[in-house]
Amino acid sequence: MRDVELYRALLGVTAPWTVAGVDVDLTGQRVVVRVEAGAGPYPCPECGTSSRRYDGKRRRWRHLDTMQFTTWIEADVPRVECASHGVKQLRVPWAEPGSQFTALFERLAIDLLQECRRSTSTVEGSISTHTKPGRAQIIFQHPAKCSLS
Ligand SMILES: [Zn+2]
Repeated sequence: MRDVELYRALLGVTAPWTVAGVDVDLTGQRVVVRVEAGAGPYPCPECGTSSRRYDGKRRRWRHLDTMQFTTWIEADVPRVECASHGVKQLRVPWAEPGSQFTALFERLAIDLLQECRRSTSTVEGSISTHTKPGRAQIIFQHPAKCSLS
């Protein structure tokens, strides 16, 4: 199984989305999974009417780690031009609108934060979001040192 097929199966993306490539940075310990939406047409996110592609915007979401490698999903998210609603950006199935994190990453972060609040006992795991300065960073260090800054 090639890396693209592996990540297509692991992410569970469905049409029109597909995994177009996987870039592995061994030195930086990072994986970038490139996802594409295909040529369209696409459903308007407001009414579902089949609409043509207007343009696209490159976006990136922090996903769950692949082994010890930080993992990102990157996609050129199409905007569609609907006759009724104007230009609208497609929703992606892996994240909420406006989020920089996948839904699975947010779920893990929430679960770990709740565990930190419940107990002062050891919380194993290490997550660092590597976001731009000023963005929320969630850092969990072993043992039992949880912080949100
Ligand atoms: Zn519409």
